[in-house]
Amino acid sequence: MSPTILKTVKEVRELRKTFKGETLGFIPTMGFLHEGHRSLITESLNENDHTIISIFVNPAQFAPGEDLDSYPRDLEHDLEELAKLPKEIDAIFLPSVDEMYPLGIPLDVSKQIGTFVEVKGLSEKLEGKTRPNFFRGVATVVLKLFNIVNPNRVYFGQKDIQQTIVIKRLIKDLFLDLEINIVPIKRNSVGLALSSRNKYLNEEIKSQVVCIHRGLSKAQKAYQNGELDVKVLRNIVSDEIVDTNNQFKIDYISINDAESLEELEKINVKNGAVISLAVYVPNEMNGIETTRLIDNIIL
Ligand code: AMP
Repeated sequence: MSPTILKTVKEVRELRKTFKGETLGFIPTMGFLHEGHRSLITESLNENDHTIISIFVNPAQFAPGEDLDSYPRDLEHDLEELAKLPKEIDAIFLPSVDEMYPLGIPLDVSKQIGTFVEVKGLSEKLEGKTRPNFFRGVATVVLKLFNIVNPNRVYFGQKDIQQTIVIKRLIKDLFLDLEINIVPIKRNSVGLALSSRNKYLNEEIKSQVVCIHRGLSKAQKAYQNGELDVKVLRNIVSDEIVDTNNQFKIDYISINDAESLEELEKINVKNGAVISLAVYVPNEMNGIETTRLIDNIIL
């Protein structure tokens, strides 16, 4: 049996009411599900009486020129992934863009009308430098979804580590009565972090982009052996990537405090750090189309 598909806010609220005193876990996704999503869902299934996921490719977090139109959407595929779970989820919330943004959602932020959520001080860093309105879009849709679903626990992946920090801040600042759980990164057998966007890459590139995790792991090893200088660690990662394929273009490699995201020059072992990065890789050798991959490792 496939899970119930709910398309409207009203339907979700009606289902939620039937759960009464029982706990509800919620996992927001953009679909094209993979094992990474499944690990979040499995945690929720284990910890709650009920589990709802959402599948919504949120226009507000895409800038003009980004991959909103080509982002993979495939409900059949998603239902097959959900069928691999140990238990069935209660429902998929699959809203239309109109349902989530009744006033419309032009990608040009200056033309948007309505209510938007900004998490200042965190959203401008790292990902926010290249994608200045990204976390405004994420925080807005996530708060809408939390208000619709009204979960007790929510699950997010460490894969998008800055997102987890931004959402934690949102929950705290707006006194949201829910618990957030962060789930480790799921990788394929050679170390590539699973991502819906890996679909854009051909097999040759997919086998090469493993260098990203290799670089991060080498830097982690160097750190464990006493290297605390951020420049040295950063070079270990970038050398590994650029030496693998000089068509791989590093957007950023950053070493930050894992709580405040403050940029570090030297790591204090007491606090640890996170190395995070974004790299543009061609979808095929010598191709013009590129995909922006992100990954991170906690030190
Ligand atoms: P997305 O559909 O890409 O927006 O992701 C939905 C949720 O799944 C987010 O909280 C992601 O961080 C999480 N996620 C995506 N990829 C992975 C992965 N490889 N391992 C663990 N969690 C992931």
